[in-house]
Amino acid sequence: MNFHVLTLFPDMIRDGLMASITGRAIKAGIISLEVVNIRDYTENKHKKVDDYPYGGGAGMLMQAQPVYDAWEAVNRRIGTEKKTRVVFLSPQGNTFNQHMAKEFAKEEDLIFLCGHYEGIDERVLEEIVTDVVSAGDYVLTGGELPAMMVVDAVARLVPGVLHNDVSAEFESFQDHLLEYPQYSRPEVWHGKAVPPVLLSGHHANVERWRRRQSVIRTAENRPDLLEQAQLTQEEKELAADILRKTSCHFDADMVD
Ligand code: SAM
Repeated sequence: MNFHVLTLFPDMIRDGLMASITGRAIKAGIISLEVVNIRDYTENKHKKVDDYPYGGGAGMLMQAQPVYDAWEAVNRRIGTEKKTRVVFLSPQGNTFNQHMAKEFAKEEDLIFLCGHYEGIDERVLEEIVTDVVSAGDYVLTGGELPAMMVVDAVARLVPGVLHNDVSAEFESFQDHLLEYPQYSRPEVWHGKAVPPVLLSGHHANVERWRRRQSVIRTAENRPDLLEQAQLTQEEKELAADILRKTSCHFDADMVD
């Protein structure tokens, strides 16, 4: 899978993604990362890429021309008939989640567009953007961190990026449940012992315990997810019990 990131701060993207698991996957050729400096495409002789917004207001706006030309150049390099999806990172988009990560992981190429300053001239967004994705309901200085976040979440779903592909299968948000708690050596730390079932070697009991813990954890921390989780009658009762005990504003009836 090939990631292409249009940005005014290419070092941020490289520094962030060339480290750790994504960095190893890029070096191994399992995924590729093209970082494009939008400034390289400006026609302004002083290399300017931003200007004042019409109508007034604080701050500067990234201009349409360099963004469009940078996007065109990337598209030419990708060279497919199919229009490559362009993901604009913006607080105005849908909040990113694991479902979107899975959808994006189906693509061969993805282009990310990072805004900065007060944002980007609307006209170029209208022409090139296919998806608008937000990191959450807060405003950052630029789209670089959210772009890295999305690339990271998508990359780890690409076969071969994680050493153990199974580890991407059983984790939070699979089946609309949060992951169970996990423990490593030593068996006792700060007087706290690892739950005995995990030392029993009894695979079915371990799985049962983990599933139960997932339901408990989700009911305690993210009851909103339960609406879509496929729960057995016993699990529904367990979740409803926790929702009743916690002073959760969520309606315990929702899992009935
Ligand atoms: N004036 C814009 C608005 O109110 O929608 C915010 C501009 S923000 C200061 C600059 C850039 O940071 C945005 O164009 C966007 O690319 C990025 N950005 C800021 N917050 C973000 C968020 N929560 N999710 C994704 N991108 C964000």
